[in-house]
Amino acid sequence: MKLISGFRKIRDFHTHSDKSDGVFSPSEVVGKASEAGIKQLALTDHNTIRGLSEAQSAARASGIDSINGIEVSAKFKGETVHVLGYGFDLTTAQEDEDFIDYLIFLRRASGINLFESAESEAEQFTNLEKVIKILIKIGAVPVLAHPGEEFINEKDIAEMVKMGLKGIEVYTKKHSAEQVIEYERIARKYKLFMTTGSDFHGYYDDDLHRLGRDNNGKNLTKAYL
Ligand SMILES: [Zn+2]
Ligand SMILES: [Zn+2]
Repeated sequence: MKLISGFRKIRDFHTHSDKSDGVFSPSEVVGKASEAGIKQLALTDHNTIRGLSEAQSAARASGIDSINGIEVSAKFKGETVHVLGYGFDLTTAQEDEDFIDYLIFLRRASGINLFESAESEAEQFTNLEKVIKILIKIGAVPVLAHPGEEFINEKDIAEMVKMGLKGIEVYTKKHSAEQVIEYERIARKYKLFMTTGSDFHGYYDDDLHRLGRDNNGKNLTKAYL
């Protein structure tokens, strides 16, 4: 594990486009990122990889390093958690039936009200351990998104590490300064990657100022990968 914040590069490994619930198209997100001075970017739409090739070409044209990403939903102890997957090959992901089936299932599940009888099936399908395995299978590094938002504690993270979790999103506007310190400690203890991301959606005017920034408006530069 090494600090990749050399040269104080601004990086943002958690952004959304209109391919999931964001406002801007993937190229527009890259354009905004470029204006914000971001040098390394990951588009991490919810449960879809449809925006990635557009983001890649736009990033190449803007001189930004782009990392393939996704944010998938999963169930852990009955609660929904978000897992980011990074650095997979697009073709490998597109050709992996388990991965694609999972995305189709999630999209269907979000569009309909699941009957109670179907809910336990859904729980099994979206079981965190299974989701982490699918991500690893396509060559993605599984990273737990904004654990502070769901108050996920060390014990939970230790269980997730056994399932194959490789990192925690530590530096995010969703974490208080105390939470950042706590998750840095946990990440070091379990030798996990620490990532950085604004969870940009583009809903509000001030969202634009948050791209690549933490909740104090400071540049997001740290990441240990
Ligand atoms: Zn999330
Ligand atoms: Zn997100």
